[in-house]
Amino acid sequence: MENIQAFQTLISQPKRVVIVTHFKPDADALGSSLGLSGYLKKKGHQVQVITPSDYPDFLTWMPDNKSVHAVTKTSEASLTAAIDYINKAEIIFCLDFSSLSRISDLAEPVRNATAVKVMIDHHLEPEKFAQYEHWNVLSASTTGLIYELIDQMGDSSLIDADIASCLYAGLMTDTGGFRHNNTRHQEFMIASELVAMGANPHKVAMQVYDANSLERLRLIGYVLSEKLNVLPEYHTAYMTLTADELKKFGAQTGDTEGLVNYGLSIKGVKLAVLMYDRKEEIKLSFRSLGEFSANEMARVHFGGGGHRNASGGTSKTSLEETLNKFLSILPEFKEKLDNA
Ligand code: 5GP
Ligand code: MN
Repeated sequence: MENIQAFQTLISQPKRVVIVTHFKPDADALGSSLGLSGYLKKKGHQVQVITPSDYPDFLTWMPDNKSVHAVTKTSEASLTAAIDYINKAEIIFCLDFSSLSRISDLAEPVRNATAVKVMIDHHLEPEKFAQYEHWNVLSASTTGLIYELIDQMGDSSLIDADIASCLYAGLMTDTGGFRHNNTRHQEFMIASELVAMGANPHKVAMQVYDANSLERLRLIGYVLSEKLNVLPEYHTAYMTLTADELKKFGAQTGDTEGLVNYGLSIKGVKLAVLMYDRKEEIKLSFRSLGEFSANEMARVHFGGGGHRNASGGTSKTSLEETLNKFLSILPEFKEKLDNA
């Protein structure tokens, strides 16, 4: 962070703090929020973590998870309460996103709030809405950025095992278990520090990765055997899931996470896409290898974004129309796919 001294002064006195992260939070989003929240509470702040939607069961082990206020689409009151926290906050931290559209119904309340805004993130094309920014596209995870910030302020002794576990979880998942090409020396250094501070790599991995329901495994089996398509001429794999199929397997929030990676694990595939109907919209996940920009495809054609090799987007048309649109734009990317 550039103006670290002013930031340090800002948080030197107890304040009413809101921490908000993106729609359908993943381990990096929730881990950075609860990790920062644990730290700020130790500094005497009154902290409320808000998520614009529900999140997967495999994240509820995170210490202090019960204190999170999740806005749910079934409850208007949960949105009203979230807006009230936002309006009363003196500082709002925006974690693991840098475009306000990613917080859904909370975007305008956060934009209009009088609180000082702090954005901490690692996604491409950040929007300018915060007075303080700790943004680094090279950082594999937002939790790593939170660790760096706490460390820069000379407060790493305040990181206990609970905070360390939340931060380690985001680092582990956003690097795909330290496998993706965003995994630098720094990620291992931070992971090593967090383990020294009490994060248990085996326990965190078990809680996140080995918490499957039988239904989720059956869904993965179904997708792999029936729904995975490969277009060798485009080095592309894609999968689609209708709302009925998701219902049939009793799919819960988070059950589709990671599915897209199976497509990319096929030898020769450079682009993998998962499209599924989450009723209010079609959600798309893009993963790519090397120089091919999944981000460009998500941003230009599906109103989304993310990282170069991992991006998401949405479509307001039907699943079938979304698939047709995807198939129709592939030729324009053929050269880039061939050369990637
Ligand atoms: P996923 O496919 O796992 O949902 O997301 C992949 C990456 O893209 C994540 O870093 C996620 O934060 C980002 N992402 C997902 N959906 C969107 C979206 O609709 N807009 C933007 N800007 N980023 C997204
Ligand atoms: Mn992240």
